[in-house]
Amino acid sequence: MTALGASNPPPDTIAAIATPPGRGGIGVIRVSGGGVGPIIAGIVGKTLVPRVAVRARFVGADGEALDEGLALHFPAPRSYTGEEMLELQGHGGPAVLRLILARCTELGARLARPGEFTQRAFLNGKLDLAQAESVADLIDAATTTAVRAAARSLSGAFSTEIRALSEALIELRMFVEATLDFPEEDVEFLRAADVRGRIEAIAVQISGVLARAKQGALLREGLAVVLVGRPNVGKSSLLNQLAGDDVAIVTPIAGTTRDAVTSPIEIHGIPLTIIDTAGLRPTDDPIEAMGIERTWSAVAKADVALVLVDAAAGGNVAEDDAAILDALPAALPRLVIHNKIDLADLPAGVDSRRPGEGARAAQAERHVFLSAKTGAGVDLLQQEILALADVHEDMEDTFLARERHLDALRVASAHLASARAHFAAEKPPHELVAEDLRGAHTALAAITGEFTSDDLLGVIFSRFCIGK
Ligand code: GDP
Repeated sequence: MTALGASNPPPDTIAAIATPPGRGGIGVIRVSGGGVGPIIAGIVGKTLVPRVAVRARFVGADGEALDEGLALHFPAPRSYTGEEMLELQGHGGPAVLRLILARCTELGARLARPGEFTQRAFLNGKLDLAQAESVADLIDAATTTAVRAAARSLSGAFSTEIRALSEALIELRMFVEATLDFPEEDVEFLRAADVRGRIEAIAVQISGVLARAKQGALLREGLAVVLVGRPNVGKSSLLNQLAGDDVAIVTPIAGTTRDAVTSPIEIHGIPLTIIDTAGLRPTDDPIEAMGIERTWSAVAKADVALVLVDAAAGGNVAEDDAAILDALPAALPRLVIHNKIDLADLPAGVDSRRPGEGARAAQAERHVFLSAKTGAGVDLLQQEILALADVHEDMEDTFLARERHLDALRVASAHLASARAHFAAEKPPHELVAEDLRGAHTALAAITGEFTSDDLLGVIFSRFCIGK
């Protein structure tokens, strides 16, 4: 367990280049820890005014200038990490930045590990864990909507809601745990405090937060959409149409797409990875067979399958196509796409059907009619994909959540459901209710990092970039 505020030894001094590798107008080096003073003295050679950008020459061990730029000094605790920090803004060349960094290590710093600045900010109480994670998510955000959602989490909107729920749970735990000592009066006491009603109210709030967090997780992870169908049915053309440029090779020769081609695109702010696959048909060609094998492994990893069929069949699903649909994992959401409506002279549109027999009969299937060549009906397809992934149009109050947060919210929900179930008994077993409330509280506290293991912190921060 990580104990915040415990009297740990003073932190060593870490340094890193914070700007991306390569050449740029400016390059930034940041240093944090107890040994910033000698580094300022050794490189800048003059006293810096706290939090004021000072123009300075950065000098090497022999006193010769390495670079010239701005130096910023942040005395503890008013800095990103909460420790004393120095930021050197020099010219953005890889060699010059490496020289300045080497000078920092000569003067006592060590190279920072990925995410170590943010980890220190967390350990010093500058950010909670959900906020620290949103720093990485903001950097990685692929769409405008994802940026907004990450910024909302970083500003603490998600953490505030989680904390409010935690506090409501703490209060309830106090009531319930108090009654454990007074078994005689407990039933009346809890009834008067409406413990059951309050558990229900918290459960409702948690499902609301979970629904918004799920949307946020979608923004973060994106949606993997796989295109499958017989050769020449128009998979590559549809990929191009969705991606807006020529990413896949389109040719009238069957069996051209032998590899899975992946392209990242965006529909209404949701990042999508579209995977174009080899056409599925019986083959003796070993290379094509390998492509087909890859198709199935792409299918296994997808969130949604788009199964293309030729609209020449007049909106019917031919036997070969039905075989492909049957071969998909039963739980994989799919859309049947009747492509080439321009040739078949059919209008763009969507219908819902229940296939007559077999495994597919259990669920209604959505069929979209479009032309990957003219683009007619592609907007309908985009809407259908979003609906299938349960995406709400309004993303205004979404948090950029991670799978870890969703799991914690689900665990908390399950504990509350169990606590509610205990109240169905004539004499509710209060010790079990107390145990469930404790479980729900612990799960929520893990989101903001009140209770975390060092292993979890290691996993979270090692995925950050160096210098953050
Ligand atoms: P894939 O093998 O499934 O990837 O199919 P392609 O995208 O390579 O398309 C095969 C052929 O069908 C190409 O000549 C395309 O131009 C053509 N094609 C694809 N979609 C349409 C469409 O909606 N209408 C028409 N007229 N031709 C299409």
